[in-house]
Amino acid sequence: MNKVYNFCAGPAMLPVEVMQQAQAEFVDWQGQGCSVMELSHRSKEFIQVTEQAEADLRELLSVPANYKVLFTHGGGRGQFSAVPLNLGGQRDQADYLVSGSWSSAAVDEAKRYLKANVVASSRREDGLLVVPGQEEWHLNPEAAYLHYCPNETVDGVEMSDIPDIGAVPLVADMSSNILSKPVDVSRFGVIYAGAQKNIGPSGLSVVIVRDDLLNQSMTHTPSILDYNILAQQGSMFNTPPTYAWYLAGLVFKWLKAQGGVESMAKRNADKAALLYSYIDSSDFYHNRIAPAFRSRMNVPFQLANSALDKVFLMESEQAGFKALAGHRSVGGMRASIYNAMPIEGVKALVDFMADFARRKG
Ligand code: PMP
Repeated sequence: MNKVYNFCAGPAMLPVEVMQQAQAEFVDWQGQGCSVMELSHRSKEFIQVTEQAEADLRELLSVPANYKVLFTHGGGRGQFSAVPLNLGGQRDQADYLVSGSWSSAAVDEAKRYLKANVVASSRREDGLLVVPGQEEWHLNPEAAYLHYCPNETVDGVEMSDIPDIGAVPLVADMSSNILSKPVDVSRFGVIYAGAQKNIGPSGLSVVIVRDDLLNQSMTHTPSILDYNILAQQGSMFNTPPTYAWYLAGLVFKWLKAQGGVESMAKRNADKAALLYSYIDSSDFYHNRIAPAFRSRMNVPFQLANSALDKVFLMESEQAGFKALAGHRSVGGMRASIYNAMPIEGVKALVDFMADFARRKG
C-alpha cells in the first residue's frame, strides 16, 4: 500500500483497521452470503448493527438516558435547517454565536425559519483571531436556543469552554470535533455532527437530543428532519444510510479499543502541540489564531511568502501528504488531524515542512 497521509478536512481519513475489516467482510458479511449493504434496514441482523452502534456511541460519550441518539441524513447543513425547525415551534427567535464560517452559514439557514440573533462574532485582536468572552455576548432570554460551533473546520478555531447560558437550550455543531475528547453531554440540548470527520463516511449525521426538546417543532417541519418522528421510529422513518451507519459502528468499536475518548484527547493534544510548536518556532509559517482558540483538529497555516503556496502544495502531494490546501474561501494551508491521523503522520508533516523551509527560506 502507498504510504500517504491524508490531511483532508472531510471526508477525512478513516482508521485503516476499520477499512480492512470492512473490506474483509464486504461481500459476505458474517456468513449472511451477502453484503451488509444489501441487507434490509429492518432485518434483525441490521437492527443489531444499529443497536450496537448506538450503545457504543452512548458509552463513548456517556450519553445520559434522557437523550435520544438519531442516525440520519443531510450532513451538517441538514441540521442547520433541522435545528430551527425542531426547536423553534414555540419561540420564533434563536441566538447564534458566530465563531467562523460554519456558524455563520448556520445563521443564514436559520433566518429562513426564525429570527436569528447573532450574540457575538469572532474578531482579530493584534492580528490574532479571538472569540469574544461570554460577558460580551448579547444573549436573549426569550431565545428558543443558543447555537454555536465548538470547532470551526475552515477557520481552525476551537472553543474548549462550554457556554453557560442557564435555561436556554444549548445547541452545538460538533461536526469536526465530536469524539475527539470527553464532553459533558448533559450541558447540551442538542449536539449534532456530520459523520465525515471523526465518525465515518459522509452521508450520515448523528444527532443527540434531550427528550424534553422533542415536542417543540414547527408544524411544517418535514418529517424526514423531525427529531420526534426519527426518535419514535428508531431513525428508520425512511431508509437510512445503512452502509455509513455500519461503518460508523466499526469506528466506534475502534475508538473503544483505542481507550475511548480520553485516550483520543491525549493523542489529539500531543499531535496539535507538535504541529503548532513547530509553526510557532518558524518564521517561514504562521498560524493567526490566538493560542486559547487554536483547533486541535484543523490547523490552518500560511507561508510567509504566499508566492510559494503552489510549490508547497505540489511538493507536499508528491511527498505523500494529501489535501493540505486551505478551504477555498480562505486559501493558505490547513492540516486536518482528526482521530484517525496517527502522530507519525504529524511528525512526518513537520519534517517535510522544516525541509521545505530550509530549501526555500
Ligand atoms: N459544520 C461543520 C463544523 C463542518 O465542518 C461542515 C462540513 N465541513 C458542515 C457543518 C457542513 O457539513 P455537510 O457538508 O455534511 O453538510
